[in-house]
Amino acid sequence: MQPEIRPATRFAPSPSGRLHLGHAHSALFAAREAAAIGGVFLLRIEDIDTGRCRPEFEDGILEDLAWLGLDWAQPVLRQSDRFPLYDKFLHVLEEGGLTYPCFCTRKEIQAEIDAAPRAPHGPDGPLYPGICKHLDPVEARDRVAAGEAHAIRIHMDRAARMTGPLSFIDTDRGRIAVHPESCGDVVLGRKDVPTSYHLAVTVDDALQHVSRVTRGEDLLHATHVHRVLQTLLGFPEPEYRHHGLLTDEQGRRFAKRDRSLTLEAMRQSGLSAAEVRARAGFPD
Ligand code: GLU
Repeated sequence: MQPEIRPATRFAPSPSGRLHLGHAHSALFAAREAAAIGGVFLLRIEDIDTGRCRPEFEDGILEDLAWLGLDWAQPVLRQSDRFPLYDKFLHVLEEGGLTYPCFCTRKEIQAEIDAAPRAPHGPDGPLYPGICKHLDPVEARDRVAAGEAHAIRIHMDRAARMTGPLSFIDTDRGRIAVHPESCGDVVLGRKDVPTSYHLAVTVDDALQHVSRVTRGEDLLHATHVHRVLQTLLGFPEPEYRHHGLLTDEQGRRFAKRDRSLTLEAMRQSGLSAAEVRARAGFPD
């Protein structure tokens, strides 16, 4: 008999610093949503950026969330343990002719953008200007074979032609049409690791059976990319709920650089978990 698959939400922090009030809001939001849909609440450690992520921050995440009163399903998945899995899915897309290798350095990309001031912009700034998309495929293959450092980018025009029109449901905003070109030819495999945020999140949400993806509205644009990847990889379509972002008294978003506003600092200053939950928008 197949094990029963229950609805699920997840909180997916990156251990590149201590959690702050914005994370508390997001974690409490996901946990409340899990309860509302009668599902499980998952915690996933998104540590593919091995240069910036640290085990002590991962320990800090577990400590802070437990102190807040949260309880999550086991096991906790850690993305850095799953590189071979992401590589497998990256290969599926490569074999399908839906990617291309990109040898550009950040500097080269910036120079190209500076030379074309009206280059298309996306939610995170200028889009990749497509330099390596037009490389001769034989030359590209030879450079890869010679061991030249490269990222793997999605060939978004081809991908969009293959998927046809797509959409997703945001439970607050309704059905939203996917604009595949809005983020451009995003990276799926970084130069240092065989995945990227977009690929790892899409694979994990599907394999963990996350039925409702909750996250901040700053990542709403990423959902357009994720729907394309889900469709190409034959994954089911989850529902989405993108929450508003908590801001400080000056109306600024919380950031990892605001040391004084970490949950750890708040706890050490004597605030109770209930007080912090209330400040994070979840009064008991
Ligand atoms: N790991 C991402 C972050 O810390 C969140 C990813 C997601 O929820 O899709 O911002």
